[in-house]
Amino acid sequence: MKKILLIGTGGTIASVPTENGLAPGLSTDEILKIVPEVRSLCEVDSIQPISMDSTNIRPGHWIKLTDVISGFYEQYDGFVITHGTDTLAYTAAALSYMIQNSEKPIVLTGAQIPAGELGSDAGRNLADAFTYACDENSHGISIVFSGSVICGTRARKNYSKRFDAFGSINFPELARIQGGKILRFIKDGFTDGVKFYENLNPNVGILKLAPGMRRDVMRFLLNCYDGLVIESFGVGGIPEYSDFYGEIEAAIEAGKMVVLTTQVPNEGSDIAVYQVGNILKKSGIVLEAYDMTTEAAFTKLMWVLGHDCSVEERRRLFYTPIYHDLLQTDM
Ligand code: ASP
Repeated sequence: MKKILLIGTGGTIASVPTENGLAPGLSTDEILKIVPEVRSLCEVDSIQPISMDSTNIRPGHWIKLTDVISGFYEQYDGFVITHGTDTLAYTAAALSYMIQNSEKPIVLTGAQIPAGELGSDAGRNLADAFTYACDENSHGISIVFSGSVICGTRARKNYSKRFDAFGSINFPELARIQGGKILRFIKDGFTDGVKFYENLNPNVGILKLAPGMRRDVMRFLLNCYDGLVIESFGVGGIPEYSDFYGEIEAAIEAGKMVVLTTQVPNEGSDIAVYQVGNILKKSGIVLEAYDMTTEAAFTKLMWVLGHDCSVEERRRLFYTPIYHDLLQTDM
């Protein structure tokens, strides 16, 4: 029988009513009690290194989760992490960079309605997550939610309330789980051996452009951070009504990294198309996210900046596809 470690971190799935609204209150053992059937699938142990609404999750927690999984890696056949849905896609992406080539499945799940409430989706999501974690052909980091299995680098929370909250962006779902059976669309295999990365540079930000945005806002963020992901419009570009280009150029000269992406939910960037992006593209000073999600580009930049290496090597790392995060480049 497989041995699975359940790692609790809080979120709605573990939440209970308080006088100030929902807050995590159930232990991982209490959550496990709602799916007694998983005991017939696998042996389960549980730990709870974090207990918080995922709004509070920060890069330090991703380092902690990586540390927990690397510490228990040899003892278990797979891992199920329960997590709040709000930042679940960020955590899945971060773990995809920090834990690479994992032949053992690391499955994240959560719920839109607390486990203890009538009509909760927690039971189904947990049961599916364990089913997926116990399967021989499951590897790497994934999110199992409402029957979808989504690659860790490709998830986004698309709905704030409905059960099928997560979508797989610019990439097919890895599998579907229906009636406890896995319909696998993509078969992954890792042969190089798992690699854990301990370092992330948390000093990375995201700037969503808005029409009429002031240049000093961009300057402020470029000063604050070592890396900035700019979510621009459409296929990508920066406004021409003020010297945004000069701000970016000065930041790059100061050793910072800037990634241009799009705030459009699907199909990614192609910044060479219009004059507003073409000049940046030709100058080669910014990186382009192409079909990567913002969640992936943001956490990958933290991982890249966590390396002690040259700018050229960092750029190479950013464009190196990791666990299906990037299909298209023109590099
Ligand atoms: N605010 C909650 C959280 O992300 C929402 C959820 O889990 O669905 O922790």
